[in-house]
Amino acid sequence: MYRTHTCGELRIDNLNQNVTLAGWVQKVRNLGAMTFIDLRDRYGITQLVVEEHSDTTVRETAAKLGREYVIQASGKVIQRSSKNSKIPTGEIEVAVDTLRILNASQIPPFTIEDNSDGGDELRMKYRFLDLRRNPLKKALILRHQMAHEVRNFLDSKGFLEIETPYLIKSTPEGARDFVVPSRMNAGEFYALPQSPQTFKQLLMVAGYDRYFQIVRCFRDEDLRADRQPEFTQIDCEMSFVDREDILTTFEGLAKHLFRSILGKTFEGDFPRITWHEAMAKYGSDKPDIRFGMTFNDITKLAQGKGFGVFDSAEYIGAICAEGCAGYTRKQLDALTEFVKKPQIGAKGMVYVRCEADGSYKSSVDKFYSQEDLAQWAAACGAKAGDLLLILSGVRKNTLSALCELRLEMGNRLGLRPHDQFAPLWVIDFPLLEWDDETQRFYAMHHPFTSPNSDDSELFDTDPGKIRANAYDFVVNGVEVGGGSIRIFDAELQEKMFKVLGFSKEEAEKQFGFLINAFKYGAPPHGGIAFGFDRWCALFGGADSIRDYIAFPKNNSGRDVMIESPSPISEAQLEELSLEIKTKE
Ligand code: ASP
Repeated sequence: MYRTHTCGELRIDNLNQNVTLAGWVQKVRNLGAMTFIDLRDRYGITQLVVEEHSDTTVRETAAKLGREYVIQASGKVIQRSSKNSKIPTGEIEVAVDTLRILNASQIPPFTIEDNSDGGDELRMKYRFLDLRRNPLKKALILRHQMAHEVRNFLDSKGFLEIETPYLIKSTPEGARDFVVPSRMNAGEFYALPQSPQTFKQLLMVAGYDRYFQIVRCFRDEDLRADRQPEFTQIDCEMSFVDREDILTTFEGLAKHLFRSILGKTFEGDFPRITWHEAMAKYGSDKPDIRFGMTFNDITKLAQGKGFGVFDSAEYIGAICAEGCAGYTRKQLDALTEFVKKPQIGAKGMVYVRCEADGSYKSSVDKFYSQEDLAQWAAACGAKAGDLLLILSGVRKNTLSALCELRLEMGNRLGLRPHDQFAPLWVIDFPLLEWDDETQRFYAMHHPFTSPNSDDSELFDTDPGKIRANAYDFVVNGVEVGGGSIRIFDAELQEKMFKVLGFSKEEAEKQFGFLINAFKYGAPPHGGIAFGFDRWCALFGGADSIRDYIAFPKNNSGRDVMIESPSPISEAQLEELSLEIKTKE
């Protein structure tokens, strides 16, 4: 037996027991007469002590130890003279009588501490060392617990976990596919699934009316903090359900996770808002509703007074920052600089200070009277001491810039604490999204999403106005999940493909198997998929999903530890009937 206990286990109750521990050397402190060794494993840290009167071989071995050596130590549990209340084992230490080096270690390239001195790339290259650090360990444990609770809950509701293939053909999520060449079918390729969408629908046709899978998905997209080329979904589908059934079931899952993982409960149902309302009030289809500061459309009020910028704007929107009238020139300039950043794209920002004496001071005083400004303030529900921040321009762009400004103000005012959660459903998404560049409609969710039945006549008159039977689950400004009630009628599906500009042949070629399956008794069905990595990061209080994945890729989609992607040999290329064209 290598060990009798873990390094996180011993307490004062274990006094005088003879124990054996094994683990990694976190730190050695040689104080002359005594040597202290912090021994670490997954479970914690226990202090070992080698005393002056210890066996010579023990003392000699202790003198050889370096950081990250793997050792085994036996001895008696004794009370510490100076206790460490910061760790659970802090009241005791082990007086070592046998010490064995199981394996030496090179000096690690960065410190294995909560706040490591290693840069990002270095830690990625030595991910196996980085994973020894507490923050990553905690993240992976949280992930494990989440997966466990997801399975518990869905199993209790009669869901079956069914695996679907990875080597498939293009799926409809609209990102770029990763492809895999087929050796046995020269010149042909598999695509890795962007999601199991078509398979879960086929499972519904097959009669497995409650399906889920914690499943890897692959999308060849540009990476951001909350994106990885391979990521995990909690993918779910149900038959004989309408939207209400889905929302209720998965609100149940969300509440179960909040309760079992974070000990948080919610009174009543999660709020639901329509996509249109979300856009008008928050400028985003994934609003952070931990705080208010919603948008006020002051277009009508602010036009016609000779201020050209406003007069020529399609939309003028204001947010009210409570108690911020005291913002200095410098603070306001910083906000203006913020909204002018290219990724935000506003041309400028107008402010109105609602002074304590009831007067108003604004950057556009020249054009607007005190009465005008008072009207704006009233429209925004502002009171003395508040600050209005106003952006204007093309509606769509201004809403999104104002959204960024609102979130920035939320951050500045501390209104977005990581340990406070505000979940909601966003419903009634538009079915289609017009793309100016390609002059065609795209499915906002995917082509299998059913339209709201009240809107079906719009197919021929105004397809852009059709509402989808689609919904997103949003928490703290993060889109945690999304899904829809599906089309299960072959004729409606054909209509949808037509609006999306697919010819009959194209639709047949890409999704013929599904259209065909629908001819054999497809039940009404719908589903949802949650971004599992994101949900874990959100619960862990992190912005990036990277640390919730054991072996993630860097921002260029590379695994710098195993050095992938990498070229393959001539022989492999030959076997796959592939030739590499080198770019000039
Ligand atoms: N397959 C969809 C997605 O990955 C989710 C769903 O509609 O269930 O976004």
